[in-house]
This record gives sequence, structure tokens and C-alpha cells, in this order.
Amino acid sequence: MPDGALKSGAYRAFTARDIDAIPQLAALSADARLRLRAVAQVLPFRVNAYVLEHLIDWSRAPDDPIYQLTIPQPEMLGDADLSALVDLGRRGSEAELQARARAIQLAMNPHPAGQIDLNVPIEAGAVQRGLQHKYRQTVLFFPAQGQTCHAYCTYCFRWAQFVGLEDLKFAAREAETLVEYLKHHPEVTDVLFTGGDPLVMRTSVLRRYVEPLLRADLPHLAHIRFGTKALAYWPARFLTDPDADDLLRLFGEIQAAGKHVAVMAHYSHPRELATPAAVAALQRVRDSGAVVRCQAPLVRRVNDDPAVWADLWRAQVRLGAVPYYMFIERDTGPKEYFKVPLARALQIYQGAYRQLSGLCRSVRGPSMSATPGKILVDGVTEIEGKPYFVLRMLQGRNPEWVGRIFLAEYDPDAAWISELRPAFGAPDFFYAEELAELSRQRARVRLNMLGETPPTAA
Ligand SMILES: *Cc1c(COP(=O)(O)O)cnc(C)c1O
Repeated sequence: MPDGALKSGAYRAFTARDIDAIPQLAALSADARLRLRAVAQVLPFRVNAYVLEHLIDWSRAPDDPIYQLTIPQPEMLGDADLSALVDLGRRGSEAELQARARAIQLAMNPHPAGQIDLNVPIEAGAVQRGLQHKYRQTVLFFPAQGQTCHAYCTYCFRWAQFVGLEDLKFAAREAETLVEYLKHHPEVTDVLFTGGDPLVMRTSVLRRYVEPLLRADLPHLAHIRFGTKALAYWPARFLTDPDADDLLRLFGEIQAAGKHVAVMAHYSHPRELATPAAVAALQRVRDSGAVVRCQAPLVRRVNDDPAVWADLWRAQVRLGAVPYYMFIERDTGPKEYFKVPLARALQIYQGAYRQLSGLCRSVRGPSMSATPGKILVDGVTEIEGKPYFVLRMLQGRNPEWVGRIFLAEYDPDAAWISELRPAFGAPDFFYAEELAELSRQRARVRLNMLGETPPTAA
């Protein structure tokens, strides 16, 4: 592999249309390229020269973790679906290919955890598109121009918005929506710019969203966060892109206005921190005064190994970043391909955690971002000779739920909260009834907006 020294080239994306133009993929057989093209009809595919030249170890493909992280794999689809798509691709029946691909996408649970139904706020009879507000202190903001990434992760839980399932996309055109919302919500301390990746936006565009927040009188707004994978996938964003300096200046201006800047960095594998460009980019962000907090999901074939996480967290702390969350991969997209059972996830987490100093133990995990909240798998305990999962609510749709400990029957195969049963034969977890009531309330609000009468309560 090249040493990762950065050629200051301009950013260029390679997508499904450019598969034949990617020199590294020319080594694949024609059949393999056909299969890749077929999978890329269903799942998002986008890479760039930095990922291709400096992150993927082509001598180890297809097993290489960064190859698995960025290049869609034939096994992510069922055999029947894959061969149907390959056939249609061979025959050149574009319309049929699109239709079949769309049907497969819709069968892959494109919108998990009630993100639209439950998280998008409704105020004064209007749906606040582009916002999600699930936990009291933090509003998620999806700026329209930031809904893509420098490269796509094959496991992305927001994959649906990159394949054109339009109604699943959140896009706020106007910063005004956000400012108005925040004026009415003094409980909000954090705004999280997210996507996609908000740092794909030019700094001048980002300023159009950030500056109104600084100008508005919002004393309760204390923290501005940027969720991003740019530090891993396109470090030039912070080094040599024409507006790199201005981005770091903007981080400084936010702090001069009295707000904290948190860069929520998505690092999946220690190799993403191993190139000179990656190190220099992280250093520049830190020099701006921003704090870099790191999070990623645990994914089979990419990072399902305690040694990988130990290396990752060690590297982060050595470079001055803060390990923050380890997530369980959500129940969406090619989840069968990536899934790691909760019991195994806990072993990997603890296997890494136990090797490391307390400075690395700022991380919390493995955590599920599920419909009721962020649920931590805290351990396995034994009661009268029987094992149970100990779960803890880290974040809750209802703040009263935060910190609650609860137990589930131990199941070595369960990979999501929906696959767990409450301990001791309880019919439901503690939050179930309230969550169901919340969903009913939302359904009533939506029906009222349509001017319809809700069905009489059962
Ligand atoms: C994780 C998450 C947040 C932020 O939670 P913190 O624990 O404060 O980092 C906010 N909103 C949603 C929907 C989340 O999933």
C-alpha cells in the first residue's frame, strides 16, 4: 500500500456507473464486476481515490476490512435476488432491473427505529422536515446539501436515502426552520449536524446554516456537533481542499460565540487513523479547539475482533480524540451479512476494554439505537444458576427511562432488542406500554393534520 502521503487532488466520487473506470477493480473477473454492478443497484456505492489508494489493502481483498466496508458484496443479497439482477443486467433490461432492485430495497427494512414516524417533530400542525428530536437535549439537523458522503459504508443504517427512496430523506432547506424550532425549545442544548455527512458541504454553504445559529439569541444552545466520516474517508477536507482553512476558522468562530464544537467522528477500523493524512487532519481539527469524539458500529468482517477495537481506541486516545460509542449494527439493509449477536458483541467489547487504560474507557457499548432509546448491553449476570443480559437505557425517548437497568433472558443468537425476551416471563419490557401510547398519540396528531377523524380507540 502507498504510505498515505496526500496528493492534493480535487475530490472525485466513483459510483456504480464508474465501476469500469476504477483501476483497482479491473483485476476482478468480468463476472465479479457484473455481480458488483448488480449489488450496486440495490445498495449505495461510492468511493474516492483516497479510499481506493490509501485505505483498502488490495492484496487482501475481498477479505480486507476496508474493502468490506466500502465495496458492496454479492453475498449481501439473497441468491435468487442476485441472480435475477445479474440476468437483467446482462439482458440490458433497465426498467425491469430498476423495478426489481426497488422491490429488494423495500424488503430490507429501509427505515428502522421509527425515525420518521416518531422522531420528526410536528409543531403548529406542520411536520418539521429536516429535523429529528428524539432525546430532550439534542436536535438532529439534516441540511439538504449534506445528504451524501465522501464514500459510503456498505453497512450504513441510513442507506435508504442514498438509493433514492425519496420519502425517507430528511432535508431542511432553511436554517430558519432550525432557529425557529430552537427558540421554542429551551431544553435543547445540542444541535447535531448530520446526514449523510454535513462536511461534504462547502464551508460557505455550511456557514449559511451555522451563522444564523450564532446570530440568534439562543443562550441554551451550548454544543454544536458535526457527525462526519470525512476524517477517515477524505482527510483533505481539513488539509488541502480550497475551503479547509475556512472550515477550521468556522470551528473557531463557533467557540468565540461561546459554544462548544464536537466533531463526532466515525472511525470503523484503526487503519483509518494510520495514514499521515489522517493523523494530520485530526491534529488540525484538535488545533481548532474542537473536541473529536469517536463512534462506530461493530460489524462482522470489518471490526468483529477485540484486538481491532483495542487498537482503534488506543490510537484515538494517543491522537487526542475521545472514544465515545460502540454501536450494534441496526436491523436494516444487509444486516444478515454484518450482524454480530449481542453475546458476541459483549465479548468483543469487554475483550478490548479490559486491555486498556482508563483513558480509553470513556467509550460506552455495545449500544443499540432502538425505538425506545439507546440500550446498552452492560453484561451477563447469573441468577439462581441462569444467565441473563443486563441492559441499561443510556438515552430514552422519555427522560425518566434514562439509567434504568433491566434484564432479558440470555440468548446467544439474539442480535437486536426485538429478538430479546424480558426476564422472568414478563410480557414486555418496562417501556413498552408508554412507547405504544406515544405511537398512538403520534398517529392521532398525523390523522388530525389530514383532517380525518381517528378511529375510535380499541
Ligand atoms: C445518539 C443520539 C443522540 C445523541 O445522544 P448522546 O448520548 O447525547 O450522544 C441524539 N439523537 C439521536 C436520535 C441519537 O440516536
